[in-house]
Amino acid sequence: MNNSNLAILNDIISERTDILHSLAEQINSAKRIAVVGHVNPDGDCIGCQLGLRGGLTGLGKSVSIINDGPFDNSYTRDYADKFSQSSEIRSKDDFDLFIVADSSSAERVAVTEDKIDFNRTIIIDHHQSGTNFGKTAWIEDGFVSASEMVFILLSYMGVTFTPQLAQVLLDGVLSDNGYYQHIRTHKYGSLYITYLLIGYGGDPNLSYRRMFCNNTLDTEKLFSKILGRTESLCSGKILWSYIYKSDRNIGGQTIDFNSGMMFRDMLSVKGLKVAVFFKIDEEENEVNISFRSTDDIDVAAVAGELGGGGHKVASGCTVKGDFDTVKNKVLNMVSKIV
Ligand code: 5GP
Ligand code: MN
Repeated sequence: MNNSNLAILNDIISERTDILHSLAEQINSAKRIAVVGHVNPDGDCIGCQLGLRGGLTGLGKSVSIINDGPFDNSYTRDYADKFSQSSEIRSKDDFDLFIVADSSSAERVAVTEDKIDFNRTIIIDHHQSGTNFGKTAWIEDGFVSASEMVFILLSYMGVTFTPQLAQVLLDGVLSDNGYYQHIRTHKYGSLYITYLLIGYGGDPNLSYRRMFCNNTLDTEKLFSKILGRTESLCSGKILWSYIYKSDRNIGGQTIDFNSGMMFRDMLSVKGLKVAVFFKIDEEENEVNISFRSTDDIDVAAVAGELGGGGHKVASGCTVKGDFDTVKNKVLNMVSKIV
C-alpha cells in the first residue's frame, strides 16, 4: 500500500492512540485468545470475528472464535461451522484474554456465562447504547461497522493484510453500511476503509453478492407476501409489517427471511420516518421488534425503553406478550417520536 494512501489512517490512529495502545498491550501479553461475537450474528459480527482471528493468528496468537448463533439466514449459515460453540469450550481458563466484538450489551454476548471472564475481556463495538461490562472497552458509534474498528486496531498492531483477511473485513463493513445506504456526512470512514481493503485485495462485488444476492425464490415470494401486509400510520411517517414464525414454514421447510429485506423497501417510501417490523414467536409468546429510522429520529431510545438497544437509526428488542398488545404499545410509543 502506497504510504500517501495511509495518511488518513495514520490520522485516525493518532486520534485514538491511548485506547489502541491499551488494547494492543493486552493482546500482546496474551497467548490464547477467544474472540466472541453477539447472538444471531450478522455480517459485521462475522467479519469482526474472522478478521480478528486472521489478523491475530498472523501475529502468532492462538485464536478461537466462539459464537452460539443462531446462524439462521442464508448468509450466516455458510459460516456456522467455522465457529466453536460454548459447549465445546472446556473452561474459560483455556484463554488468557477474551475479545467481544460488535456487542456492548453483556446479555447479547454469544457465549454462556461460565465460558467467559469479563475481567479479562476487551470490547470493540460501535453501538450507541453500548456499555462497558469488560476490563477495557473501545466503543465508538461514529463507525458504521465494528469491522472498521477491527481493521484500525489490526493496522495499528502491524498486521499484514492478505486478500482473504481484507475480504472478511470488507464483507463486515459492507454488511453494516448496507452497501453504502447508512453512510452519513458525519460517518463516512467506511468509504475510506473500503478503499484500503480493496487495495489489500478485497472484492466489493463478491461481498455484495454474498450479502444481498443469496436468496431463494421461496424467500422472495415470502418477502412479497410480507411486504404486502405493510400498513401506514401518522400520515405515512410510520410503516409497519409483521411475520409469524409459522409464515416461514412452507411445506415442512423453514424459509429464510430477514428484516433487512423489508427495510430496504420500506425505507424507500417517500415521507417515511420510522419503519417497524415485528417477528412473532407464537409458541414462546414473544415478539422480536426491529426499528429503522431516517436520520433525525432516535429509535435506540424506544428499543432501550423496551429492554433492547442498538443505534440511533437501527435498533431492536424482544418483548413478551401477544402480538396485538405488543404492537399497540410499540406503535403508540413510535407515534410520539415521529
Ligand atoms: P435488528 O433489527 O437487525 O435485529 O437489530 C438492529 C440493531 O439493534 C442491531 O445493531 C442490533 O445489535 C440491535 N439490537 C437488536 N436487538 C437488540 C436487543 O435485544 N438488545 C440490544 N441491546 N440491541 C439489540
Ligand atoms: Mn455491527
